[in-house]
Amino acid sequence: MFVEKFRVESPGVRYGAGEIESEYRYDTTEVVPPGDGGAGWVVRPKSVTYNFKTSTSVPKLGVMLVGWGGNNGTTLTAGVIANREGISWETKEKVHKANYFGSLTQASTIRVGSHKGEEVYAPFKSLVPMVDPNAIVLGGWDISNLSMADAMARAKVLDSNLQKQLRSYMQSMVPLPGIFNPDFVAANQGARANNLIQGTKKEQVEQIKKDIREFKEKNKVDKVVVLWTANTERYSNVVAGLNDTMENLMASLEKNEAEISPSTLYAIACVSEGVPFVNGSPQNTFVPGMIEFAIKKNSVIGGDDFKSGQTKMKSVLVDFLVGAGIKPTSIASYNHLGNNDGMNLSAPQVFRSKEISKSSVVDDMVASNPILYSPGEHPDHVIVIKYIPYVGDSKRAMDEYTSEIFMGGKNTIVLHNTCEDSLLAAPIILDLVLLAELSTRIQLKAEGQDKFHSFHPVATILSYLSKAPLVPPGTPVVNALAKQRAMLENILRACVGLAPENNMMLEHK
Ligand code: NAD
Repeated sequence: MFVEKFRVESPGVRYGAGEIESEYRYDTTEVVPPGDGGAGWVVRPKSVTYNFKTSTSVPKLGVMLVGWGGNNGTTLTAGVIANREGISWETKEKVHKANYFGSLTQASTIRVGSHKGEEVYAPFKSLVPMVDPNAIVLGGWDISNLSMADAMARAKVLDSNLQKQLRSYMQSMVPLPGIFNPDFVAANQGARANNLIQGTKKEQVEQIKKDIREFKEKNKVDKVVVLWTANTERYSNVVAGLNDTMENLMASLEKNEAEISPSTLYAIACVSEGVPFVNGSPQNTFVPGMIEFAIKKNSVIGGDDFKSGQTKMKSVLVDFLVGAGIKPTSIASYNHLGNNDGMNLSAPQVFRSKEISKSSVVDDMVASNPILYSPGEHPDHVIVIKYIPYVGDSKRAMDEYTSEIFMGGKNTIVLHNTCEDSLLAAPIILDLVLLAELSTRIQLKAEGQDKFHSFHPVATILSYLSKAPLVPPGTPVVNALAKQRAMLENILRACVGLAPENNMMLEHK
């Protein structure tokens, strides 16, 4: 059974004129080691009452993409226009209609409960009021000056019958000049860099701030979210005195220090303007000084690196294996792709960023099971990425997982995944910006606290969409996909006073 919309009726929930208020019992368990009051380990259930306040005034949202003219940027823009205009197009297979498949918020459902023994589902987006993607105003920066129509053709992602219908909408869209520093990307990217902001790093940051303000004004949007979907950069060196604290980072900006990357410059501009900034690539945009800056300004940052194809599968498969008591001992991941991202990743220093981001994805699952792994033990895990122009955006990901099973046996699983890179990434970008916006409308307070506060500015609720989730210092990183989804869904359920989905179905037992 499916319902489009629902309303929660409960003494703990109040739908007001501009907000939904809920009271929520958060049940956790506290673990007490031997010696702290018990003979052995003791586990104590604990309940804390939280109050949530979600503003229901959904803003007109502007989304500015860094790397707007790239494969992801053009694919997202084309997809939003095609959905908004209700465009359909014919291929040799059938007539296709625009959709948002692959978007958690737009195309997935949640179970709300049961009616006469039958499960009732509702759209994920029906939990709390969210921005309608068709109403988003898109814009952004690119170091290449091609119009979005020409950039879409360059990307070779969408069917040509669809492109023809979209050209007139996208011809007049031209990306703003971007901040470029060839030292941070592959040398082969220089060829498209013809649309650049000049000046010192400080002047470049000022230009980005001005661009955001002008975009907001011109398009009459209430809020802006900025997302990096530009080239992967090499890692910035984190150096004491340079970027290790907010103060040092700001002083380095004044001194025009070479080691501040373009992505960090965009992030500085966004945080200065109080605009959420999400990093969809693997590099360490959020150097320690940058994170401190966002925390001090209480401005949302999130990332890193879209979790689209191979890594998404990995964070499901290894969770399943380790959760089943099977011990993965070797994970070999090969990729080849032929788009501009692949060309950029062919430079070793840039590839290294991707390698780091892809490598840590099984750590939490391995650490969760010392029955299988002794301290410090880890599966062999190798990532290879090669540039093969012919396959274009249809990235191939091939993985071999070897595991130890019962009584000395071995199990080998081999996967071949044609990712269709940008078609997987574009809906993830959409979710990231919609959820980043939503997170700014939610306030909470635990019992004993007298004031409501927003979520921590390092937005862990975006983890489901990130290959290497950025978390506040000292917070555990969760990579397992099912846990990430449950966290997000259960937090939104809490906002309307619904219990977390526990799958117990006791009424049938
Ligand atoms: P792309 O190369 O097609 O697009 C990137 C765009 O950014 C280009 O148009 C380029 O001109 C522009 N650009 C580069 N540096 C810039 C700067 N400093 N300022 C403004 N614009 C700049 O790449 P893509 O396929 O769209 O992927 C974008 C990013 O997303 C890559 O870093 C990629 O690693 C990351 N990513 C993609 C996926 C996926 O599935 N598609 C998954 C995870 C991460």
